[in-house]
Amino acid sequence: MRIYLDHNATTPPAPEVVEAVATAMRDEVGNASSVHFFGQRAKTAVDAARASVATFLGGEPSEIVFTSGGTESDNFAVRGVAEALHASGRRHLVASAIEHEAVLATLAALETRGWTVTRLPVGNAGLVDPAALEAAVTPQTALVSVMHANNEIGTIQPVAELAAIARAHGAVFHTDAVQSAGKTPIDVTALGVDLLSISGHKLRGPKGVGALWIRRGTRLTALMTGGRQERNRRAGTENVPAIVGLGVAAALAAAGLGRDTARIAALRDRLEQAVLDAVPGTDVNGDRTCRVGNTTSISFDGVEAESLLIALDLEGIAVSTGSACSSGTLEPSHVLRAMGLSPHRVQSALRFSLGTTTTDADIAQVLNVLPPIVGRLRRLARGGSSRAR
Ligand code: PLP
Repeated sequence: MRIYLDHNATTPPAPEVVEAVATAMRDEVGNASSVHFFGQRAKTAVDAARASVATFLGGEPSEIVFTSGGTESDNFAVRGVAEALHASGRRHLVASAIEHEAVLATLAALETRGWTVTRLPVGNAGLVDPAALEAAVTPQTALVSVMHANNEIGTIQPVAELAAIARAHGAVFHTDAVQSAGKTPIDVTALGVDLLSISGHKLRGPKGVGALWIRRGTRLTALMTGGRQERNRRAGTENVPAIVGLGVAAALAAAGLGRDTARIAALRDRLEQAVLDAVPGTDVNGDRTCRVGNTTSISFDGVEAESLLIALDLEGIAVSTGSACSSGTLEPSHVLRAMGLSPHRVQSALRFSLGTTTTDADIAQVLNVLPPIVGRLRRLARGGSSRAR
């Protein structure tokens, strides 16, 4: 039996999504920009998906731009605003230190081209202090980007409060909601943001498709130039089957929120508490109340997380040491480091992320297997260090 507890890296598509993508791939053969029957059919399918995503986020269909995923949506938001406001003299950008690399690397690229960047610190629970944002924004600030939920620890930021501060200073506010969409309700009006990114494959949709919600009137320069697709904001023939799949995933998330999320949260809580009880020397990373219900990051004293990950994989259990992009590189997590955790606690952190396919039996099996593995790795580590001495 294989157990998948890495749903924050990607989560399996819903059966309804697979069905809709396959059907669209077979039946929607036209180019959505063509004026003939085939084109108009494809356009109708794209428009239905746009309406579904808009409803899911609480926005208008005309405010949705389809992209190739969370990375492109984040790039579009950050670069698009920076470029659009360049001439206005607003050349200062602000983001939290625990953003996904899609935001952080984009900021770093802009920094080399003359923009100034402030990276907001987080407290040891992984939360941005609104007072820190208040102190950081200036009349030159073009954009503030703070993620809704963090991919490694699941912490939910006080986005509404942060957005109000940014907008009071005339700055545009973007939130990366890739890890919160489908896990906690999203309403762009209640959040008070200007731009919001989502990704299909994190909410039971297809990989390689996402969306950026753009509040009407927000100034944004297109990254992709070419055809006039997406109201001139994202050139390129639309990936009709993937967009249809994203529309179905958004509709499912909107309808299912509250039912399956409660079941998943109960399983996560059970797993977390049982690990804390059964394995001494364990700590949960990040705020335990303000977070999405599917994620827990746990540090295991005296154990290298990579060794634990491999040992669990050999037992058929898939987990992660952090964001998928940084796993395999042995780079210590920038998120946990920004929280001020000790180097050892950072190196020994494992992320368990649950999803719709997670069962009671999966959690029971993890609880059977994990404590003895941790014990074995700790004995090995002690033996190794005594031999070295
Ligand atoms: N933002 C966050 C918070 C993420 O977790 C991810 C994926 O790990 C992304 C952005 C990138 O999304 P995508 O994989 O669709 O490019």
